[in-house]
This record gives sequence, structure tokens and C-alpha cells, in this order.
Amino acid sequence: MSLYREIFAPLHCLRCDQVSEFDVQFRTTHGDHMQHYYHGHPPQDDLAARPAEIYSGFTDLYCPACFEDWQAAKIAAFFQTLAAYTDQGVLVIRPQDQRAPLTPDELLQTAQWVDAERRKYPGPAEWGWRWLLEIGYVAWQGQVIFQADDTDGTSKNIEAQAELHEYLEAMTDSELKRAGWVGGINPFDNALQVVRSVDGLLYVDSARLAAQP
Ligand SMILES: [Zn+2]
Repeated sequence: MSLYREIFAPLHCLRCDQVSEFDVQFRTTHGDHMQHYYHGHPPQDDLAARPAEIYSGFTDLYCPACFEDWQAAKIAAFFQTLAAYTDQGVLVIRPQDQRAPLTPDELLQTAQWVDAERRKYPGPAEWGWRWLLEIGYVAWQGQVIFQADDTDGTSKNIEAQAELHEYLEAMTDSELKRAGWVGGINPFDNALQVVRSVDGLLYVDSARLAAQP
């Protein structure tokens, strides 16, 4: 099991720009077990005895309120993609108990239902993809890739599933980026560093840092 250390730092949310305390996780090569630190303070543990070092860290791109909006936006973008592919005729999605495939409009309405489900069961999940896995019948570019009563998982189907997943991720990603979500489908910021400086303090180094008082 690999654990991290974490340092709390005042960072701007990359959606609403408000500053709040973000939990930046980083890994060292020695004895990590979720030790906590604060930006600009000296470490009180084994890190204090170590020479100046730089660690790569990661945290959320968005504050909790914006992260909630991002989750909703991700579902909306996913279903917009499904609707667009359906409209182009390359994707056919049919619920198990229906004869007719879902129309683009029905898919867009479904996004709202799926998002309401997400709010009932918080936590990270690929809501759109999970919905698609359970729908019953999906055909992509003429190949049946999910079918409720289909028990043979042929490698061909798995390849087509992977291909569809990749297309949907890429389209959802660009849709989110176009809507101003800088990370697209990725809600994490991997572009920060945790620096143990020569003055003995531990800093987060990021363009998102709030101005120091
Ligand atoms: Zn925000």
C-alpha cells in the first residue's frame, strides 16, 4: 500500500477563482503515512532533518462547490456526446424493455435523471458509462457491443467497448474544456510541487497560490 503525506495550502479554485484550503498530497521516498503539514510552516517530524527537497504533488483543480458542478457538467457532456453520435447514426442505444432506440432528445433528458441519481449516491463514479453498461443494447458503428442477454464476452466486443469508451472520453473531455473546465474529464491538478526550502519551511509551489499576506 502506498500512502502520501498531505499539506494544506490556500489555492485558487480554477473554476470560480475563490481561495480555499486545498489538501495537496505528495509522496516522499521515506515513511509516508499521511502526515499533515501547513503551507509555509516548518515540518515537525522526520522531514525537518532532511535537506532541501522537491516533491511532486497533486490536488483538486476545483473547490468542493465547483467539483459538484463539474460532476454534473461531466454527465451532461457525456450524454450530449451520446446524443450527437446517435444523431449521426453511428450509435444505437436501446433499453432492454423497449423496441425503439433512444432518440437524441431522450438521451439528453436521461442526463438529468442520471445526475439526480448521482446526487443521491455521492462519490466519484463514471456515472454515464455505468448507465450505458446497464442499458441493455448498444451498437457502435454497426457492431453490437452490449446486449443484456448476451453472455459471450468475445474479445471483439471488448475491443469495440474499449474503442467506444475512448471516443466518449475524448468527446466528453473536449466538451468540458469548451465549457471552461480547464482539466476536461480530469479534476486533478498534477502540476504542483511541494518544496522543502533552505529556510526549513515546507511550501507548495503553484501558480494557484493565494497571495501571501
Ligand atoms: Zn470553485
